[in-house]
Amino acid sequence: MKVFKFGGASVKDAKAVKNVAEILKLFPKENILVVISAMGKVTNALERLTDAIFYPAKNVANGKEDASKVLAEIKKYHFDIIGELFPSKNHPIYNEISNTFVELDWAVDDTPTENYNYEYDKIVSMGEIISTKIVHAYLKEVGLNSQWKDVRDFIQTDNTYREGKVDWELTQSLVDQHLVSEIKNGAIIVTQGFIGGTSENFTTTLGREGSDYTAAILAYTTNAESVTIWKDVPGVLNADPKWFDETKKLEQISYQDAIELAYYGATVIHPKTIKPLQNKKIPLLVKSFLNPSEKGTIINEIQSPLPIPCFIFKVNQVLISISPKDFSFIAEENFSNIFNLFAEKQVKVNVMQNSAISFSVSVDADERKLPDLIKTLQKQYRVLYNDNLELITIRYYDQATIDRVTIDKKVLLEVKSRYTVQLVVKPL
Ligand code: ASP
Ligand code: MG
Repeated sequence: MKVFKFGGASVKDAKAVKNVAEILKLFPKENILVVISAMGKVTNALERLTDAIFYPAKNVANGKEDASKVLAEIKKYHFDIIGELFPSKNHPIYNEISNTFVELDWAVDDTPTENYNYEYDKIVSMGEIISTKIVHAYLKEVGLNSQWKDVRDFIQTDNTYREGKVDWELTQSLVDQHLVSEIKNGAIIVTQGFIGGTSENFTTTLGREGSDYTAAILAYTTNAESVTIWKDVPGVLNADPKWFDETKKLEQISYQDAIELAYYGATVIHPKTIKPLQNKKIPLLVKSFLNPSEKGTIINEIQSPLPIPCFIFKVNQVLISISPKDFSFIAEENFSNIFNLFAEKQVKVNVMQNSAISFSVSVDADERKLPDLIKTLQKQYRVLYNDNLELITIRYYDQATIDRVTIDKKVLLEVKSRYTVQLVVKPL
């Protein structure tokens, strides 16, 4: 069996959904497990909806959005797509999706009782439930042998809402009991990316952009022959075309390089995706949904390093420099204390460096998490910070490439290892 993952962009409108069906038709005799994300930018819209529900007062004060308006927008977006896919208004999908939206209607009408993260998962997960219902109905409409499955019946997590930790043992046994037997006779099984369920039947999410990870979990537990991520790019490029004019497609990448690139922030693959695949040596293909017959990139068990430098560019970086207030050394006790605070406030360190009396880290500028962390650090340390910076990571660097990317930039921090250099820079 093959696992296919279609992200938001690949189901962003009726034309895109039709294209998914065309791609599936290219594999008539295969068993395929299809993992689908929410359509287009629906997850962002559902995040806005959660905020509008949770902080109505704040939203009004900021002149921000009204929850029922946001929900109306989300409904319209989906029903426009359904309208194009299913011209007959009697098609059962209209009722089915209206009924599915009832849960969000309730969320808007009622005052939230639980904590933010719990409600977030309940609301935001609906994007995937709705997208898979629509795509499944369309696949059946065009004669494909599609079955819809609720992934929450298989992927079990703990109750760390918004960042559910997978219970691998339980997930494996549920997949063995209820999923494996369905994978036969050219079946297409459509299920949701990004979401999971707890033992009490609550919904969790696996972290933003988590659908790739879902594909990897299901490939691992079903011993799939491969995973294909269908994207709007021809494969994995050596740099993001958003930032670089000249990019090259990489033909083949080792698991090792792929996990490093994803870790440093290459957005083509979610960082958690590689480990399950590497552990079972399942190849990962990244291919274009616009040109499905093109080769794309294959990530597998090869030893050779990448032939060209790869660039990962992150904007909106804040460089925080932390030092003891009394000019004492920054030593092991400080480190464990500082790292605990970062973990507690859920701020991820992108790069770090230390000297005798100071410790510097670059982190994403997150207005929800960072101010609180800085305030807490300031109670014990002298804290300086510099924002609006960029973090450039080059894997397989040489001096010429460093010089090229740092033209017109002031380098504030540079960390080099054998294969990778990271530069925190300020545009001049
Ligand atoms: N829909 C989710 C998100 O946008 C998961 C995914 O797209 O992978 O974060
Ligand atoms: Mg997405």
